[in-house]
Amino acid sequence: MSGRPFLQIPGPTNVPDRVLRAMDRPVIDHRSPEFGAMVKALLPDVAKVFKSETGKVVLYPSSGTGAWEASLVNTLAPGDRVLSFNNGHFSTLFAEAARNLGIEVDEVPLRWGQGVPAELVEEKLRADQGGSAAYKAVLVVHNETSTGVTSNVVAVRQALDTTGHDALLIVDTVSSLASMDFRMDEWRVDVTLTGSQKGLMLPPGMALLCVGPKAIAASQSGGSRRSFWDWNRIIADNATGFFPYTPATLLLFGLREAVTMLLEEGLDDVFERHERLAVDAWGLKNLCENPAEVSNSLTAVVTPDGIDSGDVMKIAREQYDLALGVGLGRVRGKIFRIGHLGALNELEVLGTLGGVEMALAQAGVKIELGAGVAAAQRSFVAGRQAVATPVAATSR
Ligand code: PLP
Repeated sequence: MSGRPFLQIPGPTNVPDRVLRAMDRPVIDHRSPEFGAMVKALLPDVAKVFKSETGKVVLYPSSGTGAWEASLVNTLAPGDRVLSFNNGHFSTLFAEAARNLGIEVDEVPLRWGQGVPAELVEEKLRADQGGSAAYKAVLVVHNETSTGVTSNVVAVRQALDTTGHDALLIVDTVSSLASMDFRMDEWRVDVTLTGSQKGLMLPPGMALLCVGPKAIAASQSGGSRRSFWDWNRIIADNATGFFPYTPATLLLFGLREAVTMLLEEGLDDVFERHERLAVDAWGLKNLCENPAEVSNSLTAVVTPDGIDSGDVMKIAREQYDLALGVGLGRVRGKIFRIGHLGALNELEVLGTLGGVEMALAQAGVKIELGAGVAAAQRSFVAGRQAVATPVAATSR
């Protein structure tokens, strides 16, 4: 098909030209002074994206699934108990990864479409017996990418504080970091983990963690048997700008450029842009139940009864070269997901919404063509005017 393909899945996201150009270069020696200097300057800037001054950034050549494993094996040993909440496909897999490593998971079932309820976290922590069987960690997926629901990490932190529980707080920010407000130090998150392919605007292939002092202490005194995932070896070598193995050299040059772009735009402006672009375009049902928990990085649209969401996606892909996210796990066929994170602007959202409307109409959904696009346009115009007003007032 001619023209630009529309990749609007909730990750991997579109890689900006600046990042592509930064990676389009000869591979250099990863033990050279040039490379070491680049990494030494890069890591503190990556920490800024996590909003952490006390944490250590750890990078692995891996996908987000490897970041789960790294967070678990460094801090927890087989037989340790953790608390987790099942509200979607990725929280299910995170808990499964822990169980596969011999960790005992107390997995609280929630509805897919619900965020993690802070009262329930508090209740579970209060009921915890203490002693050696006490929860060693609470696992939270900040933004459940399979349902488009954002959970309140601050409230989870408060539940830990209120109950005086000293479990580690391990947060998956794979589809929220660099798209939505997240403050590692201020919220006292012990381990934050993410992947390169979403808000960080890079191709897939890198797992990123920020590890706080309490988690580092836990890893130094215990954790599971590990080798490749041992973050202490990496942190030690990173101090001089190097890695204990061959790093993903060109992805690191891409990360350098992506982080520069995020800091140039300003993280708060990046979050505001994502908030502005997350429009409620149609009267169609959003899988997320609570409007206060609707994600700014993706929308999970429930297709009306009798319409297979796979058909909508197929039309979008085959006829308009528009890739949408599939319904995962138990919501397969019932929803499709629109990714609106990373390098994105209003016009790209309008193009996406226009394509989705056509695919919905062709799949038999009763929808007025153009209504969602117009709703988004009105929302964008209002957003721009709200930002422009103070400037106009001062220039008069
Ligand atoms: N966690 C969340 C919230 C995700 O959305 C994903 C993938 O989309 C993962 C973890 C797993 O990451 P990966 O597919 O990069 O292994």
